[in-house]
Amino acid sequence: MTDERTYRMLFLGPPGSGKGTYAERLAKKYGIPHIATGDILRELVYSGSRLGNKIKTYLDKGELVPDEMMVCILDSRFMRKDTRKGWILDGFPRTLPQAKILDEIVDSHGWDFDYIFYVWASNEEIIERTVNRVQCEKCGAVYNLLNNPPAVSGVCDKCGGRVYRRDDDTEDMIQRRFDVYEEKTRPVIEYYSKHPHFFKIYTGGPMNLAEKEILSIIGESVGDV
Ligand code: AMP
Repeated sequence: MTDERTYRMLFLGPPGSGKGTYAERLAKKYGIPHIATGDILRELVYSGSRLGNKIKTYLDKGELVPDEMMVCILDSRFMRKDTRKGWILDGFPRTLPQAKILDEIVDSHGWDFDYIFYVWASNEEIIERTVNRVQCEKCGAVYNLLNNPPAVSGVCDKCGGRVYRRDDDTEDMIQRRFDVYEEKTRPVIEYYSKHPHFFKIYTGGPMNLAEKEILSIIGESVGDV
């Protein structure tokens, strides 16, 4: 029997709340792309192109990249064939205009959101987690130096890529990103909270608890991600 289910999911929440970690694991489980706009932007910066240099000026300040640029990036990503069965959006939308355009794009493909997960933890929990966060340059896998470090320091377990700390994962920058989140992204949570597939998940405790909750919402037997 073919699996007709679709997995179109949004992960919303403050910076450092764990969106990327859960999104990456679920994407792997369901064989769907994990579309993390922050990762796409960092790749563009890394490429050293003119667009990348322009994007860098926003990332360096902890500010949001303009909506028009983000919508173009997302629109072209959705055109790829691998999005047919589903996708997990992580880090988009971050403003109300982005949310409204996303709704139009999703509609234009004849899609709907199967799950909208709003993941949250306290600012203190997030700061502790984020200053200990490192990430693979190549595949984007996320590690925590306190409770989930790579087996070999500085090397990704999954692909052997270089593991590094993001420039914007310092306490000052996180504070700045919280402020931006409160001002620009909080209204997006309100906006989607009325959607029938909206779920709020606490991610300040052990990772497997939040993951079990997410999986039970998706209707999977737990423990086999
Ligand atoms: P993230 O990896 O999701 O924490 O994103 C890192 C940075 O990329 C953010 O602080 C923003 O500067 C930028 N960024 C990522 N996604 C978006 C978006 N949807 N809209 C605007 N800027 C974004």
